Amino acid sequence: MYKVTLLKTAHIDCAESVLYKGGDANIASTIGCHAFLLEKGDECYLIDTGIESVDEANKTKSSKADWARFEDEYSIKENLDRLGVDCGRITKVFLTHSHYDHISGVVHFKNADFYMTKEEYDLFLNDTSVHRVVNAPVYEFLKDKNIILVDGEMQVGDITLKHRGGHTKGSMSVELDKMLFVGDTVFNHKNVENRVTPGFTQFPEISQELVNEYADYPGKIVTSHDFKEEI
Ligand SMILES: [Zn+2]
Repeated sequence: MYKVTLLKTAHIDCAESVLYKGGDANIASTIGCHAFLLEKGDECYLIDTGIESVDEANKTKSSKADWARFEDEYSIKENLDRLGVDCGRITKVFLTHSHYDHISGVVHFKNADFYMTKEEYDLFLNDTSVHRVVNAPVYEFLKDKNIILVDGEMQVGDITLKHRGGHTKGSMSVELDKMLFVGDTVFNHKNVENRVTPGFTQFPEISQELVNEYADYPGKIVTSHDFKEEI
């Protein structure tokens, strides 16, 4: 069993139309932004790396409100420092997708291999959105790093990485110990409970299939953005 720690990196008030298909654009609810530390014996891995700078993240937002930090929200390095985990001990980073709020903290992990789907890596290399600009330090850092491309499904020890799509073409889930970390393929547990896709998705039909699959998952679904997410 892995010890899993949820790392809170920021929050934002987000329009319900972004969170839920058919949601009200004038009603906002607070979402978080989480990364996850996995520990087993001497091994330390990460799922995503959260928001490095809220100011940079605010250049990517689609909400009226801004990303900000509550007292218990920190950058990934600060989170790990507080837990007494040196960044140099992280040897694997599983990236659910390449948006700034998931990938921007990679720059601290010089000893890590980085895993993402080949579809997401193509998207990352050819990105023309604002994420290309704010992720400039990420491109520079990853240039000479070991990036392991997931083609469909990959087993890394007892961890299963799986291409999902939906939110982005190359979105990936990470499964371990009957927990399924779904990245942004859904935002909140309500997406799964009510079988309603996020309003913001690049591939709505795939998102609907995923929501239905997650609703029947015989374990725990773990989101990146549900403010009330807990392990
Ligand atoms: Zn996100």
